[in-house]
Amino acid sequence: MLGAHAGGSICRLMNKLSVYEFKRRALSVFFPNICPFCGRVIDARDYYCEPCEGLLPLINGELPPPENVSRLYACCWYSGIARAAVHMLKFKCLIYPADAFGLMMSRVLQNVSADALVPVPSGFLSIEKRGFSPAEEIAERVSMRLNIPILNALTADFDKVEQKTLTRKSRILNARKCFHLAEDVEVTGKRLLIIDDVTTTGSTLSALAEILLNAGAADVSAAVFAQVPGSIKRPEEPKRYKPKRK
Ligand SMILES: [Zn+2]
Repeated sequence: MLGAHAGGSICRLMNKLSVYEFKRRALSVFFPNICPFCGRVIDARDYYCEPCEGLLPLINGELPPPENVSRLYACCWYSGIARAAVHMLKFKCLIYPADAFGLMMSRVLQNVSADALVPVPSGFLSIEKRGFSPAEEIAERVSMRLNIPILNALTADFDKVEQKTLTRKSRILNARKCFHLAEDVEVTGKRLLIIDDVTTTGSTLSALAEILLNAGAADVSAAVFAQVPGSIKRPEEPKRYKPKRK
């Protein structure tokens, strides 16, 4: 629920979306919009090109959630052009893929209700290097479209050791060490939706959900733009029949 001031908040958020879209179109006169998946110049109103839409490794739905997380939503598998676009955002420090990610995630989440979006925080050094936090940028765009406020309920005390270099157990311990509940933030009784760009095993999401649940959150779900394939069981993967040995 959005609470007693829902009407006012919705108006403010809708205005924010209109201003954001207007600015994006106006700026495209000088800096044409680019498809984050292939680099083609696209129309001022578009967020990615039509050919790429057919090439995206879409999930468009729910995946088995990690521990402590009620539901996990994802747009794409982290492969092909989806992976290339995430690299632009995370490693080439280009912010424009967040526009497409925010739009696509808001479509996946359009029937999901939550009291607040909680972006996975980046460490100070990462923000200094990139100039922005990928999860916060995506969360802002999702928030504008779904009229769900952002709650910066978590902080990263220092930069995470790159999770992908760690074992599953080390990932959980590392995430627990790095993240904490932000000061003066009230999460009691709230249904929260964690937002991130990519998840691999879900260890970070699981550790963050644990922090939020321990602080009194009623429910914690998570949404990511991309899920690394092979790290979890694909829901569409059929069970293989194994004949019993005689
Ligand atoms: Zn494209």
